[in-house]
Amino acid sequence: MGGSLPGPEQGELLFDARRERVGEVVGSSQGRVTLRSPAGGQRWEAYLCDVRPATAQDALRARVAAANYQSRNATSGNAVLVRSVCEECLDIKRRRAEAPAAGDRGVAMAMTEAMGVHLRVAHP
Ligand SMILES: [Zn+2]
Repeated sequence: MGGSLPGPEQGELLFDARRERVGEVVGSSQGRVTLRSPAGGQRWEAYLCDVRPATAQDALRARVAAANYQSRNATSGNAVLVRSVCEECLDIKRRRAEAPAAGDRGVAMAMTEAMGVHLRVAHP
């Protein structure tokens, strides 16, 4: 209690030794720091004892990873297919996967259609 260490500053790049990745500080509290991946904007929490200031090499690696991530997304026409899935997604996928094994092409087609409808309704 009452640790007097100054917290990391917002925007500072830290290396999370536990996850072996670099993150940008977006907040901190109670011995923990919230980091954001420079690549994808993904956030996670790390303990202050697990992080150290990123070296120039860490920062460079993170920037390269970010550039790769962005160019991959820009060139991939399939990016829109990568979105969140829910229980229903998984259920439809499972039934569609099982249908051909059961020799039922009608079910497979119906499930493909159901998935299209579901995606439009539940994941616009
Ligand atoms: Zn879904």
